[in-house]
Amino acid sequence: MVKLRMAGAGVNQGAQAVFNGNEAMKRKAGAPLGEIALIEALSRRFGPPPPGVILGIGDDCAALDLGGADYLLWTVDTLVEGVHFDLSFTTLAQLGWKVLAVNLSDIAAMGGEPRHALLSLGWPPERDPALALELAEGLAQAGREYGVAVIGGDTVASPGRLALTLTLTGAVPASQMLRRSGASEGDLIYVTGELGEAAAGLEVLKKRPELDPELKAALTAAHLTPRPRLAAGRLLAAEGLATAAIDTSDGVATDLYHICRAGGVGAVVPEAAAPVSPRVLAAAPYLQADPLKLALMGGEDYQLLFTAHREMVPRLFPAFAAAGLPPPLLLGEIVAGDRVSLVRGGVEVDISGAGFDHFRLDPKTEEI
Ligand SMILES: [Mg+2]
Repeated sequence: MVKLRMAGAGVNQGAQAVFNGNEAMKRKAGAPLGEIALIEALSRRFGPPPPGVILGIGDDCAALDLGGADYLLWTVDTLVEGVHFDLSFTTLAQLGWKVLAVNLSDIAAMGGEPRHALLSLGWPPERDPALALELAEGLAQAGREYGVAVIGGDTVASPGRLALTLTLTGAVPASQMLRRSGASEGDLIYVTGELGEAAAGLEVLKKRPELDPELKAALTAAHLTPRPRLAAGRLLAAEGLATAAIDTSDGVATDLYHICRAGGVGAVVPEAAAPVSPRVLAAAPYLQADPLKLALMGGEDYQLLFTAHREMVPRLFPAFAAAGLPPPLLLGEIVAGDRVSLVRGGVEVDISGAGFDHFRLDPKTEEI
């Protein structure tokens, strides 16, 4: 997604040299401009944030200091038909849930609580407008579940494709806010749940394999109706348990790379440590897919990925248990450097930014 608050996603070799706007404009005609390069070029056009903006472009949410004890969090996400969803896979109610859930996940990544939402609905004129009510019901259901009120928006005709943009506010105590920056060498890297289910769910929807119905239902639900980890984010923030945090929207290889870029560090993920979901392992042979790739490069799990100082770890697991949350799962370790490396079969492979990138025309194809 082009999210101006993001530090960027998926650097590819063509885009890596494109770190300032002028170079972006001079790039060879037809050369791919990756998402990270586009966002960084755009951010230079907008200049530095004005006073009162604690976090501008480059994190999961913007954060504003309005003078109270809390920072205001502010995020936006867009879902476009044919890019983010296929109406032969998803119901409109599920889509309504998801457009809020993906924004909630960004509030979770800051350790915040969600507040209010605005929805912009681009509706193809040839479709019955009454169907939009089904979408609204899914959105309202997610709002009830997570305590968010939809308080306004806009409706426009969108020729051909359905497009949804939702902007969400939240709040976090100023002293507790989680950020992408802050990881340091020696920190341990955790995720709040097993990886790969959403990516496997999408493959199930596309390939329609003969799978156990319960397995199929769980995987497709992970893709269609993700559950943002708000409670875990709030806990990490309130208890000061994380040095850096992000949500896993674009795939761990890319999301962890954001943490590394923001902190000026590298990361090592041993294959044996990668918390691949057992459901993904069970489904992978039917999908002709590598479960490790689904887990590390597939997107949309909407777990939280965070780093913790080693001395925090003894408090980490009791805190999650006391809150009734599943224990965090170890993913790897922060090291010196600037890359995300997967250790597979004793070989280190650079997977920096190998997750999803909307603007990468030549995605990394190296074998992991
Ligand atoms: Mg995010």
